[in-house]
Amino acid sequence: TNPLLSGLHHSMAGTVLALWQKVLGDICPVLKDPEALTAVIDLFEQHVRQTYPQVELIVGLDARGFLFGPLLAQRLGVGFVLIRKKGKLPGPTQSVGYTLEYGMAEAEIQEDAIDAGQKVIIIDDLLATGGTLYAACELLKKQSAEVLGCMVLIELKDLNGAERVKPSPLFSLVQY
Ligand code: 5GP
Repeated sequence: TNPLLSGLHHSMAGTVLALWQKVLGDICPVLKDPEALTAVIDLFEQHVRQTYPQVELIVGLDARGFLFGPLLAQRLGVGFVLIRKKGKLPGPTQSVGYTLEYGMAEAEIQEDAIDAGQKVIIIDDLLATGGTLYAACELLKKQSAEVLGCMVLIELKDLNGAERVKPSPLFSLVQY
């Protein structure tokens, strides 16, 4: 029933099923297993090469997007940029506020991080309500970046985060 499986090579489908077992609610087992981590980056890389060959930067979200984003950026031969929680980045920054399940948060990016028109993909570990990814899209819009799409390992389907992120397309490796 995983829509991703139908579009994948048979061996890739097996990889996704194996990952599904590993990531149920927790990415730590994936990080601990070098083959699983390689498979995750393989799947992201394959998707980007097929769908967004024009990508110029990977943007990772604080904090678990930082675990996967730089690995993917290196594979693709592009740079990596951080969106952080308020007060963590040096130098002038731009920020946007957003609502969390409990309270408010602010996401920040360095003012000169992105050149106008640069084509970027945002990566994080997990999509829940989509509030965090939506804030990242808003921040990147402020910087006149072109957001090609958003990618996560895990998508919690019932919370409809993909709707919140629209019109940016969402790619997830595992949905439940
Ligand atoms: P959202 O903004 O989509 O509601 O939440 C996603 C953010 O919360 C991501 O940055 C993600 O890293 C973090 N997060 C990590 N694990 C979980 C989890 O198990 N549940 C939820 N709701 N958020 C998580």
